[in-house]
Amino acid sequence: MNFNISEHLFEQAVQVMPGGVNSPVRAYGSVGRTPLFIDHAKGSKIYDVDGNEFIDYVCSYGPGILGHAREEVVEAVQKAAVDGLTYGAPTRKETIIAEMIKAFMPSMEVMRLVSSGTEAVMSAIRTARGYTGRDKIIKFKGCYHGHSDGLLVKAGSAALTSSVPDSAGVPAGYTQTTLVALYNNEDSVRELFEENKDEIAALIVEPVAANMGVVPPKPGFLQFLRDITAENGTVLIFDEVITGFRLALGGAQEYYGIQADMTTLGKIVGGGMPMAAYGGRKEIMDHVSPVGKVYQAGTLSGNPIATAAGIKTLEILQGDPAIYERIDASAGKIAEALKERSTITGQAIQVNQVGSLLCAYFTDQPVMDYDGATSSDMNAFSNYFGYALEHGIYLAPSQYEAMFVSDAHTKEDIQKTCDVIKGQR
Ligand SMILES: *Cc1c(COP(=O)(O)O)cnc(C)c1O
Repeated sequence: MNFNISEHLFEQAVQVMPGGVNSPVRAYGSVGRTPLFIDHAKGSKIYDVDGNEFIDYVCSYGPGILGHAREEVVEAVQKAAVDGLTYGAPTRKETIIAEMIKAFMPSMEVMRLVSSGTEAVMSAIRTARGYTGRDKIIKFKGCYHGHSDGLLVKAGSAALTSSVPDSAGVPAGYTQTTLVALYNNEDSVRELFEENKDEIAALIVEPVAANMGVVPPKPGFLQFLRDITAENGTVLIFDEVITGFRLALGGAQEYYGIQADMTTLGKIVGGGMPMAAYGGRKEIMDHVSPVGKVYQAGTLSGNPIATAAGIKTLEILQGDPAIYERIDASAGKIAEALKERSTITGQAIQVNQVGSLLCAYFTDQPVMDYDGATSSDMNAFSNYFGYALEHGIYLAPSQYEAMFVSDAHTKEDIQKTCDVIKGQR
């Protein structure tokens, strides 16, 4: 395989964009390579500008549950485009998609459409603060909720309560109200509630953590969060930007049978276009402007092209619920192959899988939290990534991204992927 044209384009790109990219993971920094520039994609395959073909397990980091350029979705977008790209006025499609989302996820009684997951989470937290009249929030170490200032925190090493910004340019004051707990660790949550009684507006969690690889909640963990937030008058926010429509039509809430007070959606909900949503109990959402005093707005919110792509994507998922069985089974086969790779090569590999999300960690200890995830051997990951790429398998260039399986992945794709993983090519 050669990557000459990608390398050339990268040299040009770094002159005009930081690191040559518009989102840092795309720069391939953690795998010591330069990024592939994509020419086009169709179904399960992605093609770079040098003409190399790959089976794609990045799926744009989550939206691509139906694979690339699914005909019905492309048609819906084309049809919508002819009627105008944006109006800044209400359309019927916004209500249609909101009604669909509510039917799948009944806890989202009232919602707002926005343009990115970051915006959805930022707005949900502002709403929870406006509703409770409290300032503090709890998030979990290793969970990602977009790049708004207050959420770019890492826990101080001594006490979990001393949050410091995880990015330059974030004033320390912005993260002082963000408390950090440990995923799958009930005591760390209990402690924060005890120390900050009646001060916590919201607790936000990825119900399946999918931004430190894939870390499933321990049995009972989500129910514990449901109970302790209810006892303390704290708004429980499920960040389902990845899990929404991915684990089930009703997301993690349906998958685990637990309802949140507020939910954030993104990725799949826009069908590949920039759209996201936040919503929850009417009583809470009634605090959003113009009904309530929490301000939030967006020039392109509820954009007619994005809603067209989103509606079509949700319609396809709704019309074929067996999709979830198929993609989960495909992911299961890949998980098995990874375990076999470990046996064949003698290399320590832990595989975490929840539905069509999976991740291989290069460690001999089960991964249940952030410290577990970061114990993975980065050299081993880098080597595995390069090996897969050279054999036609396109993985995310980071240990901390999930592998996404789509409904466009055929039996042959999965078989080829498993063969490569096992080293038989
Ligand atoms: C991707 C992601 C976000 C941010 O969404 P953007 O559209 O990239 O702003 C927020 N939360 C979770 C769980 C995500 O995976």
